[in-house]
Amino acid sequence: MDPGFVHDVVAFVTGALRFPDRRWWSRQLRCSACGERLTMPSRRTERSVTVTLPDVPVFTVTIELEATRCPGCGLDNVHGRRSGHVADAVVQALESGPMGPATSQSA
Ligand SMILES: [Zn+2]
Repeated sequence: MDPGFVHDVVAFVTGALRFPDRRWWSRQLRCSACGERLTMPSRRTERSVTVTLPDVPVFTVTIELEATRCPGCGLDNVHGRRSGHVADAVVQALESGPMGPATSQSA
């Protein structure tokens, strides 16, 4: 697979997800939307992101990630931006899933 393409997809998906805020002085994670402390346990969750890149047919990647639901607003805050889990999950999805417009067949 074209590494430039993979990089673009990872960047797109990373931009589409909501990650918790972590203050440098605190280990406490906070909701990226409302700032509430994320006190609930994290869980595995599936996220589908529709990728729209120039010169590529629109397609959807479904990735499995850890996320913590915000007790304040209910937003799923996804983990793994810095640790590379998001990139790993995207690469996995690209390698296993059908690409391009063919994804519509699985619906
Ligand atoms: Zn929130």
